Amino acid sequence: MTTAITIARGNGIGPEIMDATLKILEAAGAKLAIEEIEIGEDVYKRGVANGIEDSSWASLKKTKVFLKSPITTPQGGGFKSLNVTVRKTLGLFANVRPCVTYHPYVTALHPKMDIVIVRENEEDLYSGIEYRQTQQVAQSLKLISQPGSEKIVRYAFEYARANGRKKVTCMSKDNIMKIADGVFHAAFDAVAKEYPDIQNDHFIIDIGTARIASRPGDFDVIVTENLYGDIISDVAAEVTGSVGLAGSSNIGDDFAMFEAIHGSAPDIAGKGIANPSGLLLGAVMMLIHIGQGGVATRVHNAWLRTIEDGIHTGDIYREGNSKRRVGTADFAQAVIANLDNSPVKLPAVTYSEVAERQKAAVLKPPAHQVKDLLGTDLYLDWPQKDVNVLVDTIKPLAEKQGLTLHSIANRGMKFWPGTPPVTFTSDQWRLRLMTADKGVVTHKQIQGIMAAVTDAGYDTIKTENLYRFDGVNGFTVAQGE
Ligand code: NAD
Repeated sequence: MTTAITIARGNGIGPEIMDATLKILEAAGAKLAIEEIEIGEDVYKRGVANGIEDSSWASLKKTKVFLKSPITTPQGGGFKSLNVTVRKTLGLFANVRPCVTYHPYVTALHPKMDIVIVRENEEDLYSGIEYRQTQQVAQSLKLISQPGSEKIVRYAFEYARANGRKKVTCMSKDNIMKIADGVFHAAFDAVAKEYPDIQNDHFIIDIGTARIASRPGDFDVIVTENLYGDIISDVAAEVTGSVGLAGSSNIGDDFAMFEAIHGSAPDIAGKGIANPSGLLLGAVMMLIHIGQGGVATRVHNAWLRTIEDGIHTGDIYREGNSKRRVGTADFAQAVIANLDNSPVKLPAVTYSEVAERQKAAVLKPPAHQVKDLLGTDLYLDWPQKDVNVLVDTIKPLAEKQGLTLHSIANRGMKFWPGTPPVTFTSDQWRLRLMTADKGVVTHKQIQGIMAAVTDAGYDTIKTENLYRFDGVNGFTVAQGE
């Protein structure tokens, strides 16, 4: 049966590696009805605000399967990442990135590595919610939700079970981001209990990343948040020999997108030397997803054999290890020539003809928690330095609202009460206002203090309410508090 898919050639090396990939798929007998769409910079230039035409969304919503080449995203300013737009619009919550070494045919930092990184794909700092609040301070909001965390963790355990994997490792930074990363870690601990057949452990992301680079054999499936997953999958791919070797799938309840993990590589674009393997292996994951496992098996084994034959693109070519240095098109031809061959030494693969649709995570409805409002953090744009000036003016204003000024912090460090730290202050100050006994307050009191401080001539940037959930504070204290 022919399956309709949508493709986009992308930017930089995108068109070259897409051509190579499609040629291989066609020669292998993939039954695909291809719809091509254009997304990215050129579409923006035509005045389409989100970089994707309505007709392209219509194609994606019809085929539900997207094979995508990398897209250039401007750094610093410019339009928002289209990759993120597509992932979030189509609800592609799981990004699955297998990273495998091909020792001794591809020179790798470690001979034995076979890990799968399952990266949360919709939340975290990738929400892209950013504000410039003062002349000196910018803010980027990291949002981690309990259902989002539970969904990705469940997906990782289901993936491990379905693919005969033994262990799932969680990576987070909940020693520092105790609340946000704490939500992710807690979801992992809760879900892990439901999979006694799969081992589980947790690493703080910094040492975890170092261990992927130094002892990748310690890991099997890794589940982590969006930003950490982005970084560790590039580290893992580099350990295998090249960032050009890994493909990935982006899976949602109804849609799926397949791509290489690398970017558009503008430094080598148009030279015909890019390695198409990442996109090709992404396409293999797509074939498995749509139930063309036989073709996926053929393509993957032909690719493994080509790697084993020492026919390598420049990124993995090493004198002594490789036999022939080829460009993108010749590499594709070599894979096509191997379509009836399997690897001799590297383990061959076999995929089922049954479409692999991992079942959607079934989330447990959260238990209702009692939420109490305990006060507010009021942020000011105040380019002065003497904290006592703030104390003298804010304290009486707070008392009029039945509140107490509990502390003043700058860049997360407590400056009052007590001895201030020996560090510079920025022009963004945080005033913590609660009742004297840290009891429940009303929204009216918070509106009252914000109005009073504004009326006193201060630039009040925002308030962030302080809540307690089932008796547990949902906010951190300042460093040194
Ligand atoms: P990159 O992955 O494009 O390139 C990093 C390095 O790896 C470069 O030296 C490049 O030449 C090399 N490289 C990458 N892919 C290769 C391949 N297939 N064969 C041989 N060498 C390869 O990362 P970057 O330079 O940080 O990003 C370039 C652009 O790509 C940016 O605009 C970025 O936003 C975008 N990007 C897009 C995606 C995506 O579309 N999914 C992912 C990552 C980056």
